[in-house]
Amino acid sequence: MYRYDLHVHTSEASRCGRSPAKDIARAYADAGYDGIVITDHFIHGNTAVSEELPWKERMQAYEAACLSAREEGAKRGLDVLFGIEHRFGDGGKEVLVYGILPETLALHPEIETMEIEAFCHFMHQNGAYISMAHPFRKKPYIPQPGVSVDPSLLDALEVYNAGNRDDENFRALYYACRHGLGMTSGGDVHDAESEQIGQAGMLFSRRITSEKALAQALFAGEGLILSNGTPCDD
Ligand SMILES: [Zn+2]
Ligand SMILES: [Zn+2]
Repeated sequence: MYRYDLHVHTSEASRCGRSPAKDIARAYADAGYDGIVITDHFIHGNTAVSEELPWKERMQAYEAACLSAREEGAKRGLDVLFGIEHRFGDGGKEVLVYGILPETLALHPEIETMEIEAFCHFMHQNGAYISMAHPFRKKPYIPQPGVSVDPSLLDALEVYNAGNRDDENFRALYYACRHGLGMTSGGDVHDAESEQIGQAGMLFSRRITSEKALAQALFAGEGLILSNGTPCDD
């Protein structure tokens, strides 16, 4: 099985990121992963990309962080894919989006003013897979934990986030089961020294070498969840 972490940040594009993309890629390769998805905090989140820049340059900045990790990954047999973590509403809620390409984002500056409903429709029209990030995390910046959107807008919940407590992850798992949603697992890693590297991710029976292939694999329910470093077998 091939191991991919679906939730990873860089200091180039996430303000809370503490390690540059190359160091992150190296750390994952050293930990035995086959791939990672760079999901930096997008336009309304804790981003390191200036809002003052023209839209296209902002999208290029997100892409550049991913490309830097990919360059390092290519030397070490680590696949590096592009994704985003998009903040919506005003309560610190975020969705992870897989299968969208930076060049598609660059063509659509109207994304900036979309409410979450229009945002999800846009992403689905473009073949992307949407998983709500750490939905039941209790933190000061998330005053009302929970799934605050119509679950029909989502494809999945992040049922295991290595930065969450077990009871928070359990509630996400319970919600996903009750609502027939898919499940993803991510490390939410911001630092190359993080102990969260190795705890989370998904196991696929083949290598996933493109964003489209990742979305298709997730829609097909192919990945096994890694939780506390252990695969959840069927
Ligand atoms: Zn962050
Ligand atoms: Zn994150």
